[in-house]
Amino acid sequence: MSVSVYLDHNATSPPRPAVLDAMVEALRMGGNPSSVHRAGRNARGRIETARRSVATLVGALPAEVVFTSGGTEANNLALTGSGQPRVLVSAVEHDSVLKAVAAAEIVPVDHDGIVDLSALERMLREASEPALVSVMLANNETGVLQPIAEVVRLARTAGALVHCDAVQGTGKVTVDFHGLGVDYLSLSAHKFGGPTGVGALVVRDGAPLRADRRGGGQERYRRAGTENVAGIAGFGVAAEAAAAGLDVAALRDRLEVELRRIAPDAVVHGAAATRLGNTTCISMPGVKAETQVMALDLAGICISAGAACSSGKVGASTVLAAMGVPADEAATAIRVSLGWNTTADDIERLIAAWRDLYVRVAHSDIAHAQAA
Ligand code: PLP
Repeated sequence: MSVSVYLDHNATSPPRPAVLDAMVEALRMGGNPSSVHRAGRNARGRIETARRSVATLVGALPAEVVFTSGGTEANNLALTGSGQPRVLVSAVEHDSVLKAVAAAEIVPVDHDGIVDLSALERMLREASEPALVSVMLANNETGVLQPIAEVVRLARTAGALVHCDAVQGTGKVTVDFHGLGVDYLSLSAHKFGGPTGVGALVVRDGAPLRADRRGGGQERYRRAGTENVAGIAGFGVAAEAAAAGLDVAALRDRLEVELRRIAPDAVVHGAAATRLGNTTCISMPGVKAETQVMALDLAGICISAGAACSSGKVGASTVLAAMGVPADEAATAIRVSLGWNTTADDIERLIAAWRDLYVRVAHSDIAHAQAA
């Protein structure tokens, strides 16, 4: 069945047509960007054009952009490559941050999923060893935005470096690498209409970075291996398009209002915090997330369980657990994430399908109660 309503942009946002055109063109032209002949120079030109576009999107210098195979590699490169003996990460980070360094210390978050700044300050004071602090810009499950400026202030006072996973925030809110004052920033093209398998680590000029793969001088010796020219070209075009911003907050707000009208005891996680305008993480009381995902899929609507993990199975959400959401409530949380091609009609179809499911489940509960 063809997908008619796609509302899972935080998983992957479909590539924009101009992105596909740029990728096909790059593949057709071929060329190794390290070759000195014209085919090589042509490929090199595409990479440097994309580097400028990506840098512009996040307020960085082109030379600070290191292309990678995506957000996961960028996060791993920052956490292992900064060379700091201590690594402090927030409890709601993506697994590619949480699991990058085995001995990472976990900084707690509050009920809205916001990093506990007093705890961070205390933890930074506890030891004198050089540290790296990693706090994401926006959460992938809830969309909650973190107070990065405050994190940077505390880290600087303690002489620590800062990494920010901006994979979900980029293209949805304005990102200013130099304005934020972080040392490392992770990006991923497929979260805002670029291809999968390509991303970048933005590294402040002068920040330490030990390459984790060697064997070539690409990316100024910061990431060896022949570049993914077509992917990077698509990333650049997606970055140019994303500079216009994403204006879907009104649709997301309407969705939340309507879902809560249908199920007054539905809970929007992180609702009291400042969030991305494209994301809602909502629990439908009594209905398992998998049931909702499957029922909506049958209705032609793609959304995800709050805790969809990379293996495709639904595990307990570490994000909601860290926020103190009870396990049974977390098990009923779905994530709806809007993107560049979302329409008002998509939202109406989701509201209608969700209402159908809720009514069906409510009636079957009554039937069960009467039978008992
Ligand atoms: N960081 C966050 C916050 C994410 O949501 C994701 C992907 O879901 C990643 C990192 C990993 O990015 P990629 O899929 O490009 O490896």
